[in-house]
Amino acid sequence: MNDIERIEYLRKTLKQYAYEYYTLDRPTVSDYEYDMLFRELEELEKKHPELSDPNSPTQRVGFEVLSEFKKINHTIPMLSLGDVFSYDELREWSKKITDVFGQVEYCAEYKIDGLAMSLIYEDGLFKQAVTRGDGVTGEDVTSNVRTIQSIPMSIPYKQRYDIRGEVYMPKSSFNRVNRERRANGEEEFANPRNAAAGSIRQLDSRICASRGLDGFWYHIPDDINSDTHYGSLQYARKLGFIVNETTTLFNDIEDVIDFIEKTAQIRNDLPYEIDGMVIKVNSYDLQKKIGFTSRIPKWAIAYKFPAEEVKTKVEDIFITVGRTGKCTPNARLTPKKIAGTTVSFATLHNEDNIKDKDIRIGDTVVVRKAGDIIPEVVRSLKEERDGSQLPFLFPDICPVCGGKLYRFEDEAAHYCVNSECKARLVYSISHFTERNAMNIDGLGEKRVETFLEAGLINSFEDIYKLHNRKEDILELDKFGQKSYDNLIEAIENSKANSLERLIYGLGIRQVGEKAGKILAAHFRNMDSFMNATIEELSAIKDIGPTTAEYIRDFFNEESNIEMIKQLKILGVNMDYIDTSVNNESVFSGKTVVLTGTLQRFTRNQATELLDNLGANVSGSVSKKTDYVIYGTEAGSKLDKANQLGVATLSEDEFEALL
Ligand code: NAD
Repeated sequence: MNDIERIEYLRKTLKQYAYEYYTLDRPTVSDYEYDMLFRELEELEKKHPELSDPNSPTQRVGFEVLSEFKKINHTIPMLSLGDVFSYDELREWSKKITDVFGQVEYCAEYKIDGLAMSLIYEDGLFKQAVTRGDGVTGEDVTSNVRTIQSIPMSIPYKQRYDIRGEVYMPKSSFNRVNRERRANGEEEFANPRNAAAGSIRQLDSRICASRGLDGFWYHIPDDINSDTHYGSLQYARKLGFIVNETTTLFNDIEDVIDFIEKTAQIRNDLPYEIDGMVIKVNSYDLQKKIGFTSRIPKWAIAYKFPAEEVKTKVEDIFITVGRTGKCTPNARLTPKKIAGTTVSFATLHNEDNIKDKDIRIGDTVVVRKAGDIIPEVVRSLKEERDGSQLPFLFPDICPVCGGKLYRFEDEAAHYCVNSECKARLVYSISHFTERNAMNIDGLGEKRVETFLEAGLINSFEDIYKLHNRKEDILELDKFGQKSYDNLIEAIENSKANSLERLIYGLGIRQVGEKAGKILAAHFRNMDSFMNATIEELSAIKDIGPTTAEYIRDFFNEESNIEMIKQLKILGVNMDYIDTSVNNESVFSGKTVVLTGTLQRFTRNQATELLDNLGANVSGSVSKKTDYVIYGTEAGSKLDKANQLGVATLSEDEFEALL
């Protein structure tokens, strides 16, 4: 790979990692690994200024906001920080400043491992909380931040006040939340930072409130109320904000280093995670003179603690199967203490990683833990081998169900594609029942788990036999006759779904809702879809060769063919129901409200039908409503329609117009 190719590769890889980290809150590599690739890119870009690109990760803060929260522009951008990984680099940063300005005063602070937040107060009242986002635009997470007990809802200060800091999850909350997630079979958070970010992005504030978040406040972007950063912090404390009490002023960078050393000794005993220290020039006047880049202030720097490493032995290597069928190799280690916790397992990521690092069973290895809860094996110490070490052969069958494992082109991971594999079952069944798939209300993930444990379901087909297990179901905790009736009705209704829902519900890799629709509209029935060749599949617009291959692999599994056969016998529709937009429909472009109970459609089915006819289905009646379709027990919406003179349609009239 030449420099140009490497730059391109690094930009693409870092963007993907940043997306996983910032948007999904689910990093796939350690921060250390990310930081090292980031540095390499910075060096290469310095070497090739002609290749500079404003979209490069080295020029940007965070990641573009992609969530469902309202977007808010920051009045003053929220920047990231430059970072150093050694004391010499820190000395160099300080020297650049003192060479120009002579001795300066530094403010040294803990680098809290959470997510940056801006709090806005107006007329002394808390008004808004906004995430950093891409530095320019963040997400409005006010209602979630309101649930953090230590944040003042009013302050004795009447002017507009913008204070920034870190929302974090204390270690105790992190352990509790992960314990609960483990017990519920949910994926654990990789580290407190991701846990805090994931909690702040909950659409339901009650969930955020239950997560036990807290905050430290460390930056007032308008240099009001003091000439120094430290002075502003003291003022903020008086207003009621929690400012970390360890924040200290120094005149000499060597004293700062001493402070960092001491902090490193006690960091594992702190009740919250810190991943380094932030050193800031204290005087606002000097800060202005030193300035910013588009991404970072030059008057501040983050010293990042080195990842902690220990030597231990790989006692065994085993595979775990995730809920998507992804198979991850793990090392069972002779237990050792790192970063305050005893580590007995480490991820080996995938087959290539094991081969590249030549990690063998019985090897002495170096294990690293860098803020993340999942430690990784950095390297094996070949010089310590005595000949008894055994290379690891990646299995070609799933350790849980015995199904064949697949490794797809361009992918490092192996996958078990057997939809009946126990490890995948909860995930795949609840995906099958989800609203946009077969839409079986009352059979969400938790219920699926309960039903699996009670032996009521073990496959998609079992869902359609649940009416035979009425007594067993009614014996389940909190399951009354009404829940049972609703569930059976939802299952019955789902049999009539158009093919695209079934295709999506099967959970074939890369076949999302959109691909489901394209494939259903193209093949019209399940048999044609199931028998399509890779060539036929990849000739369809928007279906790539990889997706085509995933589809073929899925139907090459005998058990999947049998499953479809059984679903058909059980009455599940296997045909595409064409409800594409009909511009001549009376509903096209009209605003329609549904009210009361319809006899022949569920509310979702009627909404979907109207959507497909180009109608806009609304929840409330106004003068702008074109039609109100009413079923039995229609109440105030029908009355309002009559008052406003809006056209009303009974279910029969609605059906006639269809
Ligand atoms: P950063 O975490 O290195 O530093 C900047 C942030 O530090 C600020 O935005 C603020 O939120 C925080 N901070 C904590 N205490 C502070 C204090 N006292 N004063 C000022 N700021 C303080 O930078 P970033 O832009 O938030 O994130 C980049 C980092 O995130 C990378 O260096 C990497 O470690 C991690 N990352 C990891 C992955 C991954 O896949 N593992 C992907 C993207 C980013």
